Amino acid sequence: MIPCSNPNYDNCDAQNQPAETDWHDILMDSIVSAEQLAKVLPIDSDEIKQVTAHYPMRINPYYLSLIHTPGDGIWKQAVPDIREISDPSGMADPLCEEGQSPVPNLTHRYPDRVLFLVSNRCAVYCRHCMRKRKVGASHVVTDETIREGITYIQKTKSVRDVLISGGDPLLLEDDQLERILQQLSAIEHVDFLRIHTRIPCTLPHRITPALCRMLSKYHPLYINTHFNHPAEITAEASRACSLLANSGIALGCQTVLLKGVNDQPAVMKQLMRQLLRIRVRPYYLHHPDVVSGTGHFRTSIKEGLNIIKSLRGHISGMGIPHYVIDLPGGGGKIPLLPEYIKGEHNGMLIVENYQGKRFEYPLE
Ligand SMILES: *Cc1c(COP(=O)(O)O)cnc(C)c1O
Repeated sequence: MIPCSNPNYDNCDAQNQPAETDWHDILMDSIVSAEQLAKVLPIDSDEIKQVTAHYPMRINPYYLSLIHTPGDGIWKQAVPDIREISDPSGMADPLCEEGQSPVPNLTHRYPDRVLFLVSNRCAVYCRHCMRKRKVGASHVVTDETIREGITYIQKTKSVRDVLISGGDPLLLEDDQLERILQQLSAIEHVDFLRIHTRIPCTLPHRITPALCRMLSKYHPLYINTHFNHPAEITAEASRACSLLANSGIALGCQTVLLKGVNDQPAVMKQLMRQLLRIRVRPYYLHHPDVVSGTGHFRTSIKEGLNIIKSLRGHISGMGIPHYVIDLPGGGGKIPLLPEYIKGEHNGMLIVENYQGKRFEYPLE
């Protein structure tokens, strides 16, 4: 700490505190090229170059600092992998987001809610991204597409719930985001808004008191974030989630089941418990979508069900997400549950509890 040179300063210590790091500066220092990455991690630059010719890379210094060993759960999510460009499986847009899109960057799949993309930039480009076809490309989201999206929602009376997503909506500046929230929340038939963002996990410094003051003007507002590994639950992430929760925003988490990242019951259990400690309620555990370039992350549904089974009864029910598959072709999300019903016998349902013990329960 620099000693205070002015003896007349009342608040000497506070004056000498380093200014809070501005999120723009952290973002600016991101690694975006193979050359930069080779300086900090043991990687094959040629391979990274081949991948980044297809899919963008961005690893900001905060998220980079969470990598402890080559190939760990954080590395796998952020460092390009040559298998991304040799993935024979998958489709660019398996969920048919474009096919169910009445205006650009808005998907209307369910009767009462729409998915609205308001940014195509992220604080980290996740290697497992389900929107790899879109993120990072310039001119995908423009003022014009945002205007068209808002107009569509204004005139579509069945829409009660708007999922504001991207890219990452919280990479917009406060005033840009506020203009969108203002217009959407003014629509009579819209009951509430949700922001889908990975920022509390990948760039928690973006969650500032000023942002929270702005957001709290647009209640009811929900935020669903995206944590995949216990190492992402840091003091910074905890501070960010506290600020949001203290602003009256209920926080959910949409985790993706990822091979080599969180496909072990013990890792998932720890993640879900830690989320509850930072005031985030697990919402969905997504089975990875059949997206080109993400095949190396895919696990089996059997493993997913096994993980859910390992949670139920063993951790607080508050910490158990719905395990879902999203149907190719735009059929929507289907919840999957381990088989607790083992049959029926003489008017009784035969069930198995979390310890594997069988019980009978009257059917009527
Ligand atoms: C997931 C999704 C929703 C929201 O689904 P909920 O189950 O309500 O969270 C809405 N629209 C689209 C296109 C989606 O993919």
